[in-house]
Amino acid sequence: MTSLSRSPIIVWFRKDLRLRDNLALATAAESGRPVIPVYILEPASTGTGPLGAAQAWWLHHSLLALAASLKDIGSNLVLRSGPAEAVLASLISDTNANAVHWNRRYDPPGVSIDTALKEALTTNGLTVRSFSGQLLHEPTRLRTGGGTPYRVYTPFWRALEASGKPPEPVPAPTSLTCPASWPGSDNIEDWKLLPTHPNWAAEFADVWQPGEAGAQERLASFIENGIGDYRHGRDFPARSNTSRLSPHLSLGEISPADVWHATRGLGASVSAEDVIHFRKELAWRDFSYHLLFHFPELATKNWNPRFDAFSWSGSQDLFHRWTQGRTGYPIVDAGMRELWRYGTMHNRVRMIVASFLIKDLLIDWREGERWFRDTLVDADPASNAASWQWVAGSGADAAPFFRIFNPITQGEKFDPDGDYVRQFVPELAGLDARYIHKPFEAPQAALNEAGVRLGDTYPLPIVDHRKARSMAMAAYQSLE
Ligand code: FAD
Repeated sequence: MTSLSRSPIIVWFRKDLRLRDNLALATAAESGRPVIPVYILEPASTGTGPLGAAQAWWLHHSLLALAASLKDIGSNLVLRSGPAEAVLASLISDTNANAVHWNRRYDPPGVSIDTALKEALTTNGLTVRSFSGQLLHEPTRLRTGGGTPYRVYTPFWRALEASGKPPEPVPAPTSLTCPASWPGSDNIEDWKLLPTHPNWAAEFADVWQPGEAGAQERLASFIENGIGDYRHGRDFPARSNTSRLSPHLSLGEISPADVWHATRGLGASVSAEDVIHFRKELAWRDFSYHLLFHFPELATKNWNPRFDAFSWSGSQDLFHRWTQGRTGYPIVDAGMRELWRYGTMHNRVRMIVASFLIKDLLIDWREGERWFRDTLVDADPASNAASWQWVAGSGADAAPFFRIFNPITQGEKFDPDGDYVRQFVPELAGLDARYIHKPFEAPQAALNEAGVRLGDTYPLPIVDHRKARSMAMAAYQSLE
C-alpha cells in the first residue's frame, strides 16, 4: 500500500491543455508526489457540452501535442472516455491516488459536474483542489455596486481594469514524478475525432498549429507584427492585425493571463490605445463567461424574453445557401467559405454573416449559433452564444435590433479592394473593385471581362437587402 504522502495526484486536464501557467499541474509538481495527468472525453450530453466537429479536429491534435510535452518532462498523458465521475473512480482505485487537481471551468454543465464530484470525492476522503486559469478573473468576483452580476459591458470592463493585473503566469514544470505504474490509456485514434469521408479539415493544418507551442508562437508573432495597429486594423479581414489566438484560448493551450502579460512593456512602437483595445477584447471573453455563468441558458434562450415572440420566417433552403456561402452577397459568402475551409472567420465578418442570417433571412439566431459551434475551431460556449445574442439584439448589452448591417457597404468599408472576397470567392477574383461587393450591379461588360455569369458561375442575391430590411423591421416592430 502506498503511504499517503507518496500517493499519486491525478491532474485532470480539461480546457487547459498546457503546461505553462497551469496551477493545477504546477501545485501537483511542487508536491514532489507522483503525478498522473489525465484527459477525459466526456459524453456529449455532459461535461463541456457537445464537441463541434471542427473543434474535435483541434482537440485531437492538441492532445497529441500535450502528450508529447508531458513526455518531454518524463511523464505521460492518460486518455479515458466516459462520465467523469466513473472514470475518476476507476482511476483512483487503480492507482491509489488520494488527490485530484483541476482548473475550474465555467460552462453550466461543467460547473454542476465539478461541484457534485468535489463533494463526492471529498466525502470519500480524497483531497480535491481547484484553481483559476481559464479567465482573467473569476466570474463570481466582479459584481456591480448593488452586488448583482454585470449586464452591461462597459462597467464590467471598468471593474475588471480596476481590479488590477491578472496573476503573473507560473512557469511550466520541468519534470514530473511518475507513478509506480501507469494506468491503462485509450488510443486516441479510437476516439475518431478526425473527419474522414470526406476529410473537410484537409486545409486546417495549413493555417493552424494546435497545441501550446503553436499558441506561444502565435502570440509572439502577434506581438511582433499585429498589435501595433490593432485598434484600427482589427476590423479589416484581409489584414493580419488580430491575434488569431481564439482557438488556442478556447481549449486553454495558453492562458488569458499569459496573453495579457505579454502586452506589457511593449515600448514606443505600440501605442497604449492599441494595447488597451486588445485587452478590451480579451475582457469580452471574460464578460461572455460572466453572462453564461449567471445565465446558464444563454445558448438556448433569449436573454431578453421580448424576442420570444419573434416570427422567424426564413426557410431551410435559405439557411442551407447561407451555410454554403452561396447567398449572392460576396462578403457573406467569403466569410462562410472561410469558415468551411479553415474553421474560422474574421470577427467583422462574423458580425456581418450573423446579421445577414438573422435580419435578412429571418432565421433564428440559435440556428446560426449551432452551425458556428460545429464549424468553428474556436467554438466557445460563452463567446459564441453571447455574440449571437449580441448581433440578434436579444442579448445583454446587445446591439439594437435595428442596427442591420448592409452587406454591400460593410464589404466596401472593410474590404475596400476586395482582397478578402477574392481569396475566398475565386469566381469573382477578376471583378473590378467597384463591383466586387455588388456584382449584381456591375455592367455586363465588366462581368464578361471577369468571366462572371450571374446565376451560373456566381449566384444572384437570394434576397433583396432593402426589402429584407423592411421585413425585419416590421417583424421587430410587431413585438409587444
Ligand atoms: P483578437 O481580436 O485577437 O482578440 C483577442 C481575443 O479576445 C480573442 O482570441 C478572443 O478570445 C477574445 N475576443 C475577441 N473578440 C471577442 C468577442 N467579441 N467576444 C468574446 N471574445 C472575444 N469567439 C470565440 O472565441 N469563440 C466563438 O465561438 C465565437 N463566436 C462568435 C460568433 C459571432 C456571431 C461573433 C460576432 C463573434 C464570435 N466570437 C467568438 C468572437 C470573435 O469573433 C472571436 O473571438 C475573434 O474573431 C477571434 O479572433 P482573434 O483571436 O484574432 O481575436
